[in-house]
Amino acid sequence: MILKGFEELKSFLEKPRNIVVVGHRNPDGDAMGATLALKHYLDKKGHKATVVVPNEYPEFLHWLPGSKTTYRFDWQNSQSQRAINESDIIFLLDFNALHRVGSDMQNTLEKYPNNFAMIDHHQQPDDVKYMYSDVTICSTCQMVYQFIEMNNDLDLIDADIATCLYTGIMTDTGSFRFRSTTSTTHRIIAALIDKGAENDKIHNNVYDANSYNRLLLLGQALSNLQILPTYKTAYITLTTEEKKRFDFQKGDTEGIVNYALSLKGIIFAAIFIEDADQSIVKISFRSKGSFSVNQFSRNHFNGGGHDNAAGGKSDESMAKTVTKFTSLLPNYKNELEASYEN
Ligand code: 5GP
Ligand code: MN
Repeated sequence: MILKGFEELKSFLEKPRNIVVVGHRNPDGDAMGATLALKHYLDKKGHKATVVVPNEYPEFLHWLPGSKTTYRFDWQNSQSQRAINESDIIFLLDFNALHRVGSDMQNTLEKYPNNFAMIDHHQQPDDVKYMYSDVTICSTCQMVYQFIEMNNDLDLIDADIATCLYTGIMTDTGSFRFRSTTSTTHRIIAALIDKGAENDKIHNNVYDANSYNRLLLLGQALSNLQILPTYKTAYITLTTEEKKRFDFQKGDTEGIVNYALSLKGIIFAAIFIEDADQSIVKISFRSKGSFSVNQFSRNHFNGGGHDNAAGGKSDESMAKTVTKFTSLLPNYKNELEASYEN
């Protein structure tokens, strides 16, 4: 755990400030939940906080309290730039390095003259002025709860803040099932329900909001699934053509990689998704046990994340990317074998 400059940050926040709160590119439930919860909390403390996200986030998160007040850097560029330029401090939530916001927004943030405060649970964070980093915590939303607790402000958590925090903890723990889910996580979840988070509604809003096309895209993904039993590995591909066929919308592929990991005996899963806009293949990796997909992705696919959930990308074609992936596996046979056992 790294806690840097906390007392100084606390005194800086004793006066009302203009604050921008930023999440990573392709924001997920944890990024949206954490940024919005922190915004609501800071507003209640008398500051003026604005959430700026790099790009679009999935429809199934649009219902989050405060969602309509956020700026999208790619789409509302002048408002976003103005909010950033007028701010006294920027909070960076749910990411560990400035490049995770994408190159356009990164350029703006690199010129930012004031200080950054990072709250994040990803490995190997960049060094910024104020930091609360803990790679053992399941979600940034749990860290925001603990940040509020460190400020002795749990009383300020209302139903909106509780709802945002519950959502991010739920999505980043795979609904409270990953190893990072601790008894503390469950105690915090219980407190959030007491504060007004309606757990059944949140699960419905996030998980039961599928379009028919999204289910058909899932069907396509499952029929593309390849299994490599020798390496306890399974992977899925999705091409641009397949995405178009099922009217792909942002967020439609979220969670599909977990189906590959749900196969008995499989402990390493990947999904390769063509992204025609960026001319890359975007990759999600998942593992069970000690096999670190963070390290695997850092070493081979320009990415990173956590030990058991990471992302990466490839500038090569889908075919070349998949060949590269499968030809790496023999080097990891022993590690994958060991990961299966623990
Ligand atoms: P997902 O596969 O769900 O997109 O991401 C899994 C985890 O890895 C998330 O915590 C996400 O923030 C991180 N991640 C996803 N893509 C990248 C990437 O390209 N680089 C890095 N460093 N982390 C990523
Ligand atoms: Mn997260």
